[in-house]
Amino acid sequence: MLNIKIEKTTQPKQKPINPDDLGFGQLFSDHMFEMTYTEGQGWHDPEIKPYQPIVLDPSAMVFHYGQEMFEGLKAYKTKDGRVLLFRPEKNIERTNITNERLCIPMVDEEDILQAIKAIVSIDKDWIPEAEGTSLYIRPFIIATDPFLGVRPSNTYKFLIIVGPVGAYYKEGINPVKIWVENEYVRAVKGGTGYAKTGGNYAASLKAQVKAKENGYTQVLWLDGIERKYIEEVGTMNVFFKINGQVITPSLEGSILPGITRNSVIELLKSWNIPITERKISIDEVYEAAQAGTLEEVFGTGTAAVISPVGELNWNGKIFKVNGGEIGALSQRVYDYITGIQTGKLEDVFNWVVEVK
Ligand SMILES: *Cc1c(COP(=O)(O)O)cnc(C)c1O
Repeated sequence: MLNIKIEKTTQPKQKPINPDDLGFGQLFSDHMFEMTYTEGQGWHDPEIKPYQPIVLDPSAMVFHYGQEMFEGLKAYKTKDGRVLLFRPEKNIERTNITNERLCIPMVDEEDILQAIKAIVSIDKDWIPEAEGTSLYIRPFIIATDPFLGVRPSNTYKFLIIVGPVGAYYKEGINPVKIWVENEYVRAVKGGTGYAKTGGNYAASLKAQVKAKENGYTQVLWLDGIERKYIEEVGTMNVFFKINGQVITPSLEGSILPGITRNSVIELLKSWNIPITERKISIDEVYEAAQAGTLEEVFGTGTAAVISPVGELNWNGKIFKVNGGEIGALSQRVYDYITGIQTGKLEDVFNWVVEVK
């Protein structure tokens, strides 16, 4: 149990009024959670205090060598006013998987769940209620030793910031156009692809910009060795429905193990829809598109939950998926998962955790 010191703000901010103005990642609540790690002492001094800048030495290691990790999850308000988290224990478990890879000290899983619940509870009036909106929760850890040598830091800060986010889809679900990236890669086996760390994103920006310049929304990443096997789309895991079978790339070290991905797999199994985790090549997808058996493609992640893909461009070969429309399975999975998240459907999988 953490003994969290609480300092409430004396100057609460104006909360957004129009849910259409929320966007993503632009607004932050009144408070933040912070805790410090010192070698020999462990994690200490947990506190919730007014949302404010953090002061760090310019030589703090995170600025130079990127030793940091982050997570992302959401809290939803139900029609009857309850506050629900979606599988938070999975995010916490993944925190320690990322930490282990980046030589960041482990966190206590129960303590972090307590911290998440505490910050959400104190700022629960910030959870928007309009359809599709939620409170985004961003836990992260940064290395803080003031030192320019290369080694793991001996001190860290763990912070949680939260803020209201708008509906990802305002006018129904719009399939996205995807650029299959042939030059740049996101990760290789042995690297940090399975860890949720900022460096992976820094390395991905170049391809993202290139995709945008070509009129595409997101990048589909191929494996780093042969540029042949499919890995992820942008910041999401990816699923293909070919001839009635659903396939998603297997986790072999370079792919981020998404919680939405895991939930979709469990859901499809419970519906008796064939789902396989295996290597899938871009050639296989292209051939299926040519043969007319590529039925659906969708990305999965916390932000959008399900993001249908309407078009792929692979080296100038353009293939449309399901006529650029959302597929029936994508819609069914989306409705079901968001139904559980928002308390509209019975939580048969025991996925939601209530914040009191
Ligand atoms: C966070 C993330 C995902 C999705 O994970 P969820 O747990 O489903 O939100 C997928 N790919 C990358 C690269 C990510 O950072």
